[in-house]
Amino acid sequence: MSGHPNHTAADAPRTGGSTRGFDLASLVEYTKTLECIHCGLCLTSCPTYQLTGVESSSPRGRIHLMRSVAEGDLEPDAEYADEMDFCLLCRHCETACPAGVEFGALMEHARSGLTEQMPRPPLARALRWIGFRFVLPRRRVLDLAGAALRAVQITGVERIGRWLLARAGSVVPTSPRVPKGRARRRLEPSTPADGAARGAVDVLEGCVMPVLFGRVNRATGRSLAGLGYESRPLAGVTCCGSLHAHNGDLDGARTLARRMLAAARATERDGSDPLPLVVNSAGCSAHLKELHHLFDPDDPDRAAAEELAARVYDFTEFAAPRLRRRPPERSIEGAWKGPFAYDDPCHLCHAQQIRTPPRDVLAALPGLELVPLENSEGCCGSAGIYSVLRPADSAAVLEPKLDALERSGARTLVTANPGCHLQWQAGIERRGLDVRVVHVAELVARAYDGRTTE
Ligand code: SF4
Ligand code: SF4
Repeated sequence: MSGHPNHTAADAPRTGGSTRGFDLASLVEYTKTLECIHCGLCLTSCPTYQLTGVESSSPRGRIHLMRSVAEGDLEPDAEYADEMDFCLLCRHCETACPAGVEFGALMEHARSGLTEQMPRPPLARALRWIGFRFVLPRRRVLDLAGAALRAVQITGVERIGRWLLARAGSVVPTSPRVPKGRARRRLEPSTPADGAARGAVDVLEGCVMPVLFGRVNRATGRSLAGLGYESRPLAGVTCCGSLHAHNGDLDGARTLARRMLAAARATERDGSDPLPLVVNSAGCSAHLKELHHLFDPDDPDRAAAEELAARVYDFTEFAAPRLRRRPPERSIEGAWKGPFAYDDPCHLCHAQQIRTPPRDVLAALPGLELVPLENSEGCCGSAGIYSVLRPADSAAVLEPKLDALERSGARTLVTANPGCHLQWQAGIERRGLDVRVVHVAELVARAYDGRTTE
């Protein structure tokens, strides 16, 4: 990389250079880079800066790189691309930033520009296309992929493959344990409320949730039933596109967003207010609340996306005030070992500013002792598919959090996001700790109906 650190916005071409036959400014949202006042308050919150101590791996450094590219001072080379990929998109820097820099939007745009203008090697491109465009949007393909991975796991083929790869010196990402077929069944078309119904909600089943965490989806339905709500899975939609957006496939994210909008429109009933859409994955609820960013201001889908955002509730956000009105009575003691510690998913605390509701939910559950977890707002290193693409960095980011978990004395770690769930499980297993990981909805469901999981 060959940037010019002293270059100022005032002497910069706003539209960027075009020495390589394309508009450099289109690699980044240039005007957003100008919001950074270089104060550096974000540096210590950044997990990649904590790992390297290098300015270019910090939010401020990355914004400087993006701006240099937009102004035509820096060739977007492999080193630039690597710094963009190294970012976890945890958005902790947004919480720390006094100037309101929207780093998440900046990074998604920068990655999108790279995808278009600095194509990855053919194999990486093919794998991304298969994953993002072929597998994630299709329920049947996801189900088949889940069944195939389960077969490879229970026959021991996966273990042999991992051993061979490790011997060859590769850092092998942990693959999620796929539960047996019955646990992967879909939600019923409707889960009725327990007792007197207070209303109805739509729920998002998600793409990988039914394959890996069907029990969490069912626990969400059981919790909503306990709260007095009938729940119905949103039909006609599989993936919301959050993984696509985070990884720079904004076109793919836009296509799935339109599918989501059509599915949401189909649930609107004559003259009645649209139902709340309850989402139990923090990454997806954050993405759906910001879906309108994918559309130009004059695109009619932008207004529809804003309307959809007003319907979206993260599970914890929906449950907290309603638990007060209908408190559960069954103790969760015996089902999981206490004490419990709650770890804030980045896309709940930094992207949605949801910090109190999950704690209110846990405080309302009989028999649950909550202990504090240091740096609970620090990223665990999961970051969507980051843990697969950069397993060594991902594991290194989790290490200090595992130390904090050990110091907390917790025997159960509570989360509200499937990526974090898998990341913690993998780290806890690696370290040999006697700690279980649970989604907050599993605890609420148990407190209402006395069942642990199914
Ligand atoms: S999103 Fe997270 S990893 Fe990326 S620059 Fe901000 S704090 Fe660092
Ligand atoms: S805290 Fe905000 S304004 Fe300050 S350097 Fe970081 S991104 Fe820029």
